[in-house]
Amino acid sequence: MKRLVIFLLLVIIFLTGCGKKENTIVMVTEAGFAPYEYYENGKVIGVDIDIAKEIAKHLGKELIIKDIDFDSIINELNSGKADFALAGMSITEERKKEIDFSIEYSESKQVIVALKDSNIKTVDDLKNKKIVVQLGSVADIFVSSELSEATVIQQKKFLSAAQDVKSGKADCLIMDALPANELVKNNKELSVLSVDLFTDRYAVAVAKGNEELLDEINKVLDKLMENGKIEEYILYHTSR
Ligand code: GLN
Repeated sequence: MKRLVIFLLLVIIFLTGCGKKENTIVMVTEAGFAPYEYYENGKVIGVDIDIAKEIAKHLGKELIIKDIDFDSIINELNSGKADFALAGMSITEERKKEIDFSIEYSESKQVIVALKDSNIKTVDDLKNKKIVVQLGSVADIFVSSELSEATVIQQKKFLSAAQDVKSGKADCLIMDALPANELVKNNKELSVLSVDLFTDRYAVAVAKGNEELLDEINKVLDKLMENGKIEEYILYHTSR
C-alpha cells in the first residue's frame, strides 16, 4: 500500500512536471545588456524580451526568462535546459557549429569605451593595452585573435568591466555599440570612442537541429521587422 502511494505520488509529480513544460517556453539571456536585456524593479525587460514575448504569444506558451552568464548560453541550449537564447547574440561561424541561428534581427558594431581623457585614438593604439571584455563575447574572441600584444581581462558582467576601466585596471572596454551608449549614460567618466572596430549581426539561437522552433521564430521575426517593431522597441528602450 505504502509503495503504491509513493508510486502514485511520483506519477503525479511526473505528470505535473510534463504539463508545465508543455505550456511554457524557456528563454535564456544575460540580463546586464541594456537596451536588449536589463533589470527594472526586479524584472528583466528590453528589446530581446519584447521579441521573446511575441515568440511566446505566437506559440501560445508562457514565457520563462532565465538570466545566466553569457558564456553558458550555448551549453544551456544544447543540454535542453532552455528553448532559445535572445541575448544580443552575434552570428559567428564558430557558434554556428554548436547552435542554430534564426534570421538576423539587428545590426551592431563593436566599439571602444574608455575614460574621457584616454589617449586611445585609433585601432593601432590598442596594441599594448589592457583591454577588458565580456567572457565569451565576440569582443573577447577579437582581442584574443587580432590583438596578440594586448592583455585581455575577461569579466562576466559589463558592470565589472566598466569598473575596471574606471579604476585604471583596464585601459578600455570593447563591447557592442548600443549597450556601450547605455553604459556611459550611467558612468559619466567614460565615453564611447569614435573608432568602430567591426560590425556584427544579432540572431536568436536554438539547439542544433531544432528546426521546428526555428521556423516559428523566423516567422515572428519576419513580421516584427516588416512592421518596424524592432526599431520601435530599440527606440523605446534607449530613450528612457
Ligand atoms: N554581441 C556580442 C556577442 O554575441 C555580445 C553579446 C552579449 O554580451 N550579450 O558576443
